[in-house]
Amino acid sequence: MRTPLIAGNWKMHKTLAEARELVAGIRDGIGDVAGVEVLICPPFTLLFPMAKAVAGSTILLGAQNVHEEPQGAFTGEVSATMLKDTGCTHVIIGHSERRQLFHEAGDRLAKKLRAAAAAGLTAIYCVGETLEEREAGQTHEVVARQWDEVVDADLPVDRLVIAYEPVWAIGTGRTATPDQAQDVHAFIRGKLAGTFGEGAAAATRILYGGSVKPGNAAALAAQRDIDGALVGGACLVAADFTAIIAAASAASAA
Ligand code: PEP
Repeated sequence: MRTPLIAGNWKMHKTLAEARELVAGIRDGIGDVAGVEVLICPPFTLLFPMAKAVAGSTILLGAQNVHEEPQGAFTGEVSATMLKDTGCTHVIIGHSERRQLFHEAGDRLAKKLRAAAAAGLTAIYCVGETLEEREAGQTHEVVARQWDEVVDADLPVDRLVIAYEPVWAIGTGRTATPDQAQDVHAFIRGKLAGTFGEGAAAATRILYGGSVKPGNAAALAAQRDIDGALVGGACLVAADFTAIIAAASAASAA
């Protein structure tokens, strides 16, 4: 039985005052919700104050990026140990915005995954195809490549979460249908089994990301291989984020 994970990727949003208000709203909104894990991933500047803001709740803290080296002359970067120091348990790696806007490729992402694991962080590794690739029928091929160039059996699979995020669905309001998402999730489950074995594949969470909203969260959560969501825009509004969390909780109880 996989406990669903609802993760909010705040991207480059929120001042300290806005962040405190958002977390207060999430805490109020989720109450004692059961059967679901909740994670917020604020920008680096907010990690220490948000660790304080979530203290005493079940909300987990994660970062949106990490540098692959443990320390050194890397101006503007943050190491996995530093993230751990703030109270982070998770870090997003390989988001399509990092791949596209910051040119992060497989060799670098592979090092980041290993740096995160070495520091005791759980990585949320993002994969997903562009619209052109989907229309060319290359979705599985692209996801397989993003898997093969980064993941292998030496990674601690118990510190790994996968997020399937079709690039054409991120921030566009266009969501993969539950069937489209389920198809790719099942494919990723197969990749997990091939790399780590059936037991690990059955235990590892695969999140869907791409314009998840209160209105589509339940249908996505009902799919067999969808184990939660990586949420961008909707995680910035407490009522929307908590509605998505409630949908995941209801699906896990069903
Ligand atoms: C994301 O950035 O990971 C994401 C899924 O964004 P959105 O929910 O806004 O599409």
